Parts: sequence; C-alpha cells; structure tokens
Amino acid sequence: MTHQTETASGLAERLGSNDAALTLRWADGEHRQTLHDSDYASVLTQIIAVLTEQQLLHHLPKVIGHRVVHGGEVFSDPVIVTDEVLASIRQCIALAPLHNPANLAGIEALATLYPDIPQVAVFDTAFHQSLAPKAFLYAVPYELYEQQGVRRYGFHGVSHQYVAAEAASRLGISAQHGIISAHLGNGCSACAVANGQSMDTTMGMTPLEGLVMGTRSGDVDPGLHQFLYQQKGWDVETVTNMLNKESGMLGLSGLSNDMRTLEAAANEGVERAQLALAVFCYRLARHIGGLATALTRLDALVFTGGIGENSRFIRATVIENLAIFGFRLDNDLNARNGDMLGVISTGPGPKVVVIETKEELMIARAALALI
Ligand code: ADP
Repeated sequence: MTHQTETASGLAERLGSNDAALTLRWADGEHRQTLHDSDYASVLTQIIAVLTEQQLLHHLPKVIGHRVVHGGEVFSDPVIVTDEVLASIRQCIALAPLHNPANLAGIEALATLYPDIPQVAVFDTAFHQSLAPKAFLYAVPYELYEQQGVRRYGFHGVSHQYVAAEAASRLGISAQHGIISAHLGNGCSACAVANGQSMDTTMGMTPLEGLVMGTRSGDVDPGLHQFLYQQKGWDVETVTNMLNKESGMLGLSGLSNDMRTLEAAANEGVERAQLALAVFCYRLARHIGGLATALTRLDALVFTGGIGENSRFIRATVIENLAIFGFRLDNDLNARNGDMLGVISTGPGPKVVVIETKEELMIARAALALI
C-alpha cells in the first residue's frame, strides 16, 4: 500500500464443481492449479501458501478487505466486520441471494483461519445510499418499502466512486462537478455523480434493472412475467432465470455474451450481432440522457469496465447516440483508449474519459483507513 501497486492478483473459480481452478499472477510469474477440495477455507489457505512460497507475502496481512454486494440500507460506508455486521449482511441475503452468501462464506473462512486479522467489508450498494427518495423509490405501495425494503439500491458503487473521483482529479474539477460514469463489464450500470456523491444509478433493487448486459435483460415491462405465464406457462423462477442468464447480448444475438465475439461477428455482417450492439448502445445512451436529470452540470462522461475501457466502437456509437449533449469525440484518441489522462474528446464542452476501474485498490484503501 505504500506505493499503492498490485503485488499479485488471481481468481479462484467454479468452486465446488469438478473443474474448480485457481490462477494467481504476479510481475514475473503465474500459478495455475485445479482444485479438488474447493471449499473457501482450503482455497484461501492455498492462496496464502503460494504467495508465501513465492515470497510475495513476507508477513500476514494487517487487514483483509472484502467486497460485499448488498448492504441494504444499513451500510453507507465500509466497516470493520463484527458479529453485528455479519448478522446485517446475513439479513440482506433476501436482497442478494446469489452474492451475499458467497461473500459471507469468504469472510467466515478467513475469520476461522486468521482470527486475529481484522476484516473490512466494502459494500457495492453503499455509495448509492446518498440517493434521494425521489430517485430510490419505486411507485408501488409504500408499505413494501417500509416492510420488505423494496426500493432501488444500485450496485458497482466501488467502481463508480473510484472512476468519478479519478476523473474529477485528472480534469481538475475536484470541488464542484457533475459526472456520469458507465461501468460496462459483464454487468453494466451507469451512475450520475455530483461533487463525489451518487445522485442516481441504473441498477435497482437487484442488479437486473437498467442497461442491457452480457446475459441480463436490464429494463423490461413488469407485465412480462404475467404475459409469459399466460402464453408459455412459465413460472416466476423460469422467467427470472431467462432474464438473468439467457437475455441481454446473448439473448438478442443468439451467439454470445462476450462483446469481443459480437463486435467481430458484426464486422463480418452477422445481422443479429449488429442488432444486439445497436440495442446495447441506444439503451445506454437513453439512460445517460435520463441520468443527466439528476445533475445541474455535466463536466464529463466516464467509460470503464472491460467494454468501457477497451471498445472504441461502443464508445463511439454511444457518443453518436448522445448528439444532443455536444460531446466531441476525437477518433484518434478514442482508437488509443485515451490520451495520458484518458481523455477521448476534444474542444470545449463536456469531456469523455476512459478510466481503468480499480475496485481492489478502493477496497484496500478503505480497509487500511479503518485500522
Ligand atoms: P466483469 O464485469 O466480469 O469484471 P469485465 O469488466 O472484464 O467483466 O468485462 C468483460 C467484457 O469486456 C466482455 O464482454 C468482454 O468481451 C469485454 N471486452 C474486453 N476487452 C474488450 C475489447 N478489446 N473490445 C471489446 N470488448 C472487450
């Protein structure tokens, strides 16, 4: 953390299945292995063992930071993990049934392995706790908000907060600013940020609302469930699964959820890939237009995430769809993913910037700040 640089990074994936695997990378090497006994505790023990063996970890960490997806209305900042915090994260399972149990399992495994190392939870929803009721309420009976917590929470908060702050600092607008950030990865969301605070965002109670994503539909008519039940006999679970896993770019194209594959196919003239790209860009532009409502000024539009950081085609098409905002794209800078500051626009008016998101760095900073 002295130099805020990454020592190593890695991924343990498909845990619990037969093809569970661990990959770790550092400056001059990497480690790959299949995992047979892949519960959280054994994987984390294995990671620490490899890092120690490679002399990347000279002593045990002072603090361990965790990304936790859902903090409900309880958490608006990172916190040191205590029994009460664990109980609150557990209470939010109903709102994030796929994510919060996995986040808890990681925290609990490390607490067992290293009971003396403090752990910090950094919530994906926390940054958006600044939303006003007019932005976070759905127009459904108010009791559903009061009793069940039905409201918009927003996600990708760690990323939006980081890239907006980074854009403000790079552009010299740290004090007063209006920024819209578009985090475009496998999941996609956009966020309106005024003076460092989230004002509105495209994801809602779950990470399904808003933009078109790899396999997620984003916004659809809430009447769709009933229609598909009547027409095809699909129950709620079937429709929900379809909207989360078989929709988005995959559903539209019938080809892939991966943007690189789709861009290549579109270039070769595959019409459904072209159509999927057009829907993705138009929906994103339409939401950016909507998010501007939450701001009193617009200084910059930021692109981040695997797609935002790398796809010049997506950036150019979105900007084309936003002609009314007066962004002026510099094609050369766009082709290079930005100048030294990441800027891909030219002239006066709002800037367009490409910024690599660094969620791990944000989590590390937050963890360090709390001990
Ligand atoms: P995650 O949300 O899982 O962290 P990423 O932020 O890595 O995912 O984004 C993954 C997406 O980024 C994929 O759709 C991938 O195709 C896309 N992507 C990565 N590189 C490029 C590129 N050069 N051009 C277009 N899309 C890209």
